[in-house]
Amino acid sequence: MSRLPKLAVFDLDYTLWPFWVDTHVDPPFHKSSDGTVRDRRGQNIRLYPEVTEVLDRLQGLGVPVAAASRTGEIQGANQLLELFNLTRYFVQCEIYPGSKVTHFERLQQKTGVPFSQMIFFDDEKRNIVDVSQLGVTCIHIQNGMSLQTLTQGLEMFAKAQVGP
Ligand SMILES: [Mg+2]
Repeated sequence: MSRLPKLAVFDLDYTLWPFWVDTHVDPPFHKSSDGTVRDRRGQNIRLYPEVTEVLDRLQGLGVPVAAASRTGEIQGANQLLELFNLTRYFVQCEIYPGSKVTHFERLQQKTGVPFSQMIFFDDEKRNIVDVSQLGVTCIHIQNGMSLQTLTQGLEMFAKAQVGP
């Protein structure tokens, strides 16, 4: 893998976890005595199965990771990142409603990484359309984040870097 992105950005709902945090689950969340993460009603909350491996792999490759989510359930989303022990991976989290163009402009300002050196994974086509226009390599994912999706995305990024 010769050309790696300088920042990998992930959506949250239906990208790292299989639900909308503002609709399908009931904050606040907690870790129960058996170590599982549960919502207020005791419903078991899970990430997509390979998410931690995906983030570990990026860390191993030296690629910093950020989050960009349009959810209105800001507190719940941040709480889940903490309970799943994921905050250690993220250099920056942009979590608030609005166009994802705003999220990426702030990521660019805060990290100094140009859009052309970012890769972005999201399940919603409109976000892919918006963020693509900035020059970010965008990967529209179908069934949540997996190692295979990461590999495909990094290959697509590398190919996009090949100049004339
Ligand atoms: Mg999503």
